[in-house]
Amino acid sequence: MHADLHTHSTASDGTTTPSTLVELAAQASVDILALADHDTVEGIPEASDAAKRLGIRLIPAVELSTSSGDVDIHILAYFVDATDPRLLTLLQELRESRRQRGELMVTALKEAGYDLDFGDVLAIAQGGVVGRSHIGRALVAAGEADSVKDAFQRLIGRESPYYRPKATLEPAQLIATLRELGALAVLAHPGVTAVDDLIAPLQEAGLAGIEAYHTDHTAEQTARYLKIAERLGLLVTGGSDFHGTEGGKHAQLGDVPLPEEAIHRFLDAGERLARSR
Ligand code: AMP
Ligand code: ZN
Ligand code: FE
Ligand code: FE
Repeated sequence: MHADLHTHSTASDGTTTPSTLVELAAQASVDILALADHDTVEGIPEASDAAKRLGIRLIPAVELSTSSGDVDIHILAYFVDATDPRLLTLLQELRESRRQRGELMVTALKEAGYDLDFGDVLAIAQGGVVGRSHIGRALVAAGEADSVKDAFQRLIGRESPYYRPKATLEPAQLIATLRELGALAVLAHPGVTAVDDLIAPLQEAGLAGIEAYHTDHTAEQTARYLKIAERLGLLVTGGSDFHGTEGGKHAQLGDVPLPEEAIHRFLDAGERLARSR
């Protein structure tokens, strides 16, 4: 069994469509795939159809941005009901705050003399959830940056004068809501976020697991989070955080393997959730 529980599509800031993503998963021998776009479930119907065709199990998921102080904390919500109006309303609000933040960043860049319009960014996002990656691509298209990576380094990274935060929820608040919605909440890439002291309090709020295996984790970080998960009795997940085949900062699909035992525990937890809904 081969799982990749963290991937993105063109419904947010990935560069492959949901159906192409599933085809790539099939080619990479991934049989359990989670589509976890930022703040949207709009790619899930297309991915589910492709998954049925190709004999892949698709786990409906979404990656939500929260923050605590000035730290960004990403929460992966698994086994979501992508038709639940309460979830859809929450996602709609998060997307609106992303759009406003995107517009503020573009205005700040424009005022500093960069040749950029918010319309260019929306055109690149093609109806998908607006993220800094789209601003980065627009800056490259305008000749203002050499690559998306360069744009993140100089113009749109957290330390840049043009960076603006999105309005977000506190992680505990979001996790409590996810619990009400019957979804499984997992702390994404804890090695990147580095909020180890928050893991136990978030577990109190309903956090079910941590993403010990992730593209950006060193072997030491993975070992560290496996240990924390074991001590606290949390599930362990993992994924590539694939954003498309065009390089970028993430791994290729299926490149971050998750041990069989962790996959089984994860799927069992999903089945328990489905029964309790
Ligand atoms: P946002 O959610 O709009 O704040 O944008 C964060 C997203 O930008 C992440 O999910 C990554 O996909 C992408 N990202 C962050 N840092 C970089 C980087 N240095 N190069 C390319 N993409 C990045
Ligand atoms: Zn992303
Ligand atoms: Fe993330
Ligand atoms: Fe991600």
